[in-house]
Amino acid sequence: MTAYPELYMIIDGERVSAGDRRTHKVVNPATQETLGELPLASAADLDRALVAADRGFRTWRNSTPQERAAVLQGAARLLVERADDLARIATMEQGKPFQEARIEVMMVVGLFNFYAGECQRIYGRSLVRPAGQRSIVTREPVGPVAAFSPWNFPLGNPGRKLGAPIAAGCSVILKSAEETPASALGILQALLDAGLPSDVGQAVFGVPDEVSRHLLGSPIIRKLSFTGSTVVGKHLMKLAAEDMKRTTMELGGHGPVLVFDDVDVDQVLDTVVPAKYRNAGQVCVSPTRYIVQEDIFDSFVAGFTERTKAVKVGNGLDQGIQMGPMANPRRPDAMERLIGDAKARGGKLHAGGERIGNQGYYYAPSVLSEVPLDAEIMNEEPFGPVAILNPFRAEEEMIAEANRLPYGLAAYVWTANARRQKTIAREIETGMLGINSMMIAGADAPFGGVKWSGHGHEDGPEGLDACLVTKVVHEA
Ligand code: NAD
Repeated sequence: MTAYPELYMIIDGERVSAGDRRTHKVVNPATQETLGELPLASAADLDRALVAADRGFRTWRNSTPQERAAVLQGAARLLVERADDLARIATMEQGKPFQEARIEVMMVVGLFNFYAGECQRIYGRSLVRPAGQRSIVTREPVGPVAAFSPWNFPLGNPGRKLGAPIAAGCSVILKSAEETPASALGILQALLDAGLPSDVGQAVFGVPDEVSRHLLGSPIIRKLSFTGSTVVGKHLMKLAAEDMKRTTMELGGHGPVLVFDDVDVDQVLDTVVPAKYRNAGQVCVSPTRYIVQEDIFDSFVAGFTERTKAVKVGNGLDQGIQMGPMANPRRPDAMERLIGDAKARGGKLHAGGERIGNQGYYYAPSVLSEVPLDAEIMNEEPFGPVAILNPFRAEEEMIAEANRLPYGLAAYVWTANARRQKTIAREIETGMLGINSMMIAGADAPFGGVKWSGHGHEDGPEGLDACLVTKVVHEA
C-alpha cells in the first residue's frame, strides 16, 4: 500500500519543510483523516523562489530544444514507472477513483511527450527585403511564470502548468492547491529527477491571496497562468494588469449538452451519464445543462435517472467504485444550497439530492428536471454530481439556451443530422465542442474557453505559443 508522503515546498532545489512556518492540514475527503501538515510560504520564502526563478530563466532560456526534450521525455518515463503510487496519492488527497487518477498520470505523460517534440518546432521566419538587408522574426520564452493550479485534477493541472513553459524555455513557480500538494510535488519531482535545473521548476504553497499578490507584485514574473473559478480569475487578472503580465486563464464553465430527437437515446445515455459523474462532476468541462428535444424528453429523464441510481459511490481506493467523495466540505454544502434552491423554485428531483453517510464528503449523484432559468443552479457553475435536464422544442431555442450564460468553455451536441452539426458548430459560443462525443481534450489539441471561461490555451501548439513572445530584428 502506498504511504502518503512527507510534505514540503521545493524552493531553489531545497526541500523546505514546516519548521516554524504556518501549516495547512491536508485531509482525505473519503475518511476526513489528516494525511499531513503542509508548510506555507513566508514572504521570505517567496522572495527566495523569485530570485531563483529569475536565475533559472536566464540559463534555461538558452537551453537547446533537445535538452528540454530530454527532460520532458525523462520525466514522462519516470511518471509511467511511478503511475500507480502517484494515482493512489491523488485519490487519497482528492477522492477520485484510482482508475481516473491513473488516467490523469497518463495524460501528463502524453503531454510531456508531445511538448518534447513540439519544442523542437519553435520556428521564426525571415522577411523578404532588398539585397543586403534582413528582417528576422524570432520567438522567445516569455520569462518566469507564476502558475496557480486547482485541486480537481491534482496531477493533470500541475502537468499542464509545468509542461508548456518548460518546453518554451521559461522557469515556473507553481502554487498548486493546498488541498492536493503531494500530487503536484510528484509531477515536479519527476521533472527534477529527469534533469530539470532546480531553479527552473519550483513549488510553493501558502495562503492563496498572499502568494498571488506577492508573486504577481514582482517584476520578475512575466506571465500568470491560472486555472480556477471566474471570480478568482478576474481578481488575478487585475493584479497581473498592474505590470502588464501575459495571462492564460482557464476558468469556469456551465457545459450545455444539446440532445436532438434523431438520436438513439440509450446509446447517448450510455456515454453522457458516466461523463457527468466523472470526478464527481468537479470538472470545468463537465456536462451540466442537458438541453433535450421534447419528443425524447421523458425517455431521456427516465434512462438518465435509472443509470444515475446505479452509479457505485465509495472510497476511490476500493475496487469497482465509479464515483468518490467530493474533494472538500465546501462542495457538498454548495450542492445542498443549489439543489435546495432548484426544488424550492419548482424543479423536480429524480435522484440523489442528499449527502451519503456521515463520514467523508459524499454527495449522491443527482438528477433535476424542469428547473426554471432563474434558479441559482441554472446560472452558477454547480461543480458537482448533478445533471439538469430541461425540455425544448426548436433548434433555435436550444442554441439560445446554450449561449444564454456568460460562460463558454465546453459544449456538446448529439444529433445524426449533418446540417445541424454544422449549424451548431458555428453558432455555439464555446472554446470546445464535442459532436456525438464527450472527448474534447488531447495533448495535441488546444484546451481553453471564451467569454467568462477565460482566454488563452493549454495543450497543443497553442499552449506552447502562449509561453512565447515575438521579437523582430531588422538588420541594415
Ligand atoms: P476558490 O474559487 O476560492 O478556489 C479555486 C482555486 O483557486 C483553488 O485552487 C484556490 O487555491 C485558488 N485560489 C483562490 N483564491 C486565490 C488567489 N487569491 N490567488 C491564487 N489562487 C487562488 O474556491 P473553491 O472552493 O476551491 O472552488 C470554487 C469554485 O471554483 C468551484 O465551484 C468551481 O466553480 C471553480 N473551480 C474551477 C476549476 C477549473 O478547473 N476551472 C477548478 C477548481 C475550482
